[in-house]
Amino acid sequence: MIESVLSKYFTVYTQKDILEKYSMDYGSLSPILSSLRKIPKAVIKIKEEEEIKILMDLVNEYNFPVIPRGNGTNTLGEAIPLNENSVIVDMSELKGFEDKVTSIIVRPGTEFNEIGIEKLPVVPTSFNMATIGGYVAGGSLGFGSLKYGAIWDNVRQVVVYTPKGRYTLEGEDTYSVVQAAGTTGIISQIKIAALNRPRRISVIRAGFNTLRKAIDKALDLLEVAEFISIRNKAMASIIEPYHKWDKWNLIYGINDPDEEEDLPFKDIVTTFAGAYFTVVNRTKVNYASMDISLDELEKIDDVKCLIDAELAKSRGKYFSHTYFLGYTSLPNLKSSKFDLHSFRVNDRVEPDRLKKMVSFKRVVDPEDLLNPGKLVMNT
Ligand SMILES: Cc1cc2nc3c(=O)[nH]c(=O)nc-3n(C[C@H](O)[C@H](O)[C@H](O)COP(=O)(O)OP(=O)(O)OC[C@H]3O[C@@H](n4cnc5c(N)ncnc54)[C@H](O)[C@@H]3O)c2cc1C
Repeated sequence: MIESVLSKYFTVYTQKDILEKYSMDYGSLSPILSSLRKIPKAVIKIKEEEEIKILMDLVNEYNFPVIPRGNGTNTLGEAIPLNENSVIVDMSELKGFEDKVTSIIVRPGTEFNEIGIEKLPVVPTSFNMATIGGYVAGGSLGFGSLKYGAIWDNVRQVVVYTPKGRYTLEGEDTYSVVQAAGTTGIISQIKIAALNRPRRISVIRAGFNTLRKAIDKALDLLEVAEFISIRNKAMASIIEPYHKWDKWNLIYGINDPDEEEDLPFKDIVTTFAGAYFTVVNRTKVNYASMDISLDELEKIDDVKCLIDAELAKSRGKYFSHTYFLGYTSLPNLKSSKFDLHSFRVNDRVEPDRLKKMVSFKRVVDPEDLLNPGKLVMNT
């Protein structure tokens, strides 16, 4: 029994209520993802880097699947076990960081508030709940993405443990691990870019009677704004009910000393997060997300539902990360759909980053023991 092998080195949790808790993440909000979860065999907690090495030696010897986990806040079922014999590896207690001014070296279980979100170029709207390791392994965009790109644009170096040993990856090699959902290694250390955000950020709300006018204003602000959201009246009214909204609305943050209202940074992120929280809390409606090029964005005008378009940048290219809630049909666009009901990494990563993940996985985990089933290798 793998539990008795593990218990020589770790405290092993097998109580029913603990296993039940660790069988879920926020992906359980999706009925599709929720129906796939299995109860794991055991849970262990990593407190020291050396323990990951011991664990990987045991995985090699006994061939059991392991699922690294931060705080379980991902909404895509990436931390749920698909097999009953899985061991969940809780990384949330492997904490600590070193501030190097232009970068931060951080342990995966560290939470955003421990570092201070002003110092990080991009933070998820779940910054109060998530670990840095979970965001690096499972996140994508966030507050700051308009200026500084996605999480994979900001990770400088990552150290991972795999059944084939310890690897330090730098530059574009980090693409093998970032957003790979722990399928290509257990992250023990991350070097992430750091910055000093402007002290004053004002949030401005502007209304327009056409989407075209809202997009044109957004294009003017693209290079200077801290964030830009375009929301239709239905979406804006649900997020901020006491404001008078137009047909289309621009909500943006800007560092402008002449503007009167400036908010604490955390409140600004919460304003930005409105759409995400609305999506997460409204589970009984159809919801989808599409990454739409700015050239095509005007085509969403006719979609009858709640719409929020968060402008963002990834690898130097601007686009709109767009949420549709309560839709009956979606526009037929060239843009990629970000499938909110799929646990598969393959369904959301661009071909060149996916290629890096798959080639690395083939070398370090050909038996698919690291979060099995989440990254399909024969693509
Ligand atoms: C309200 C809300 C708002 C959100 N906003 C955003 C957002 O703005 N942007 C965004 O990208 N996401 C967002 N998310 C989802 C998001 O991905 C997570 O909140 C966060 O990135 C996950 O962190 P976590 O510690 O909970 O990781 P978990 O959910 O525990 O794990 C996430 C993935 O990482 C893997 N993993 C965890 N730790 C390690 C490790 N040490 N080594 C290797 N793999 C590991 C897990 O196996 C899993 O595949 C949001 C979620 C909620 C509920």
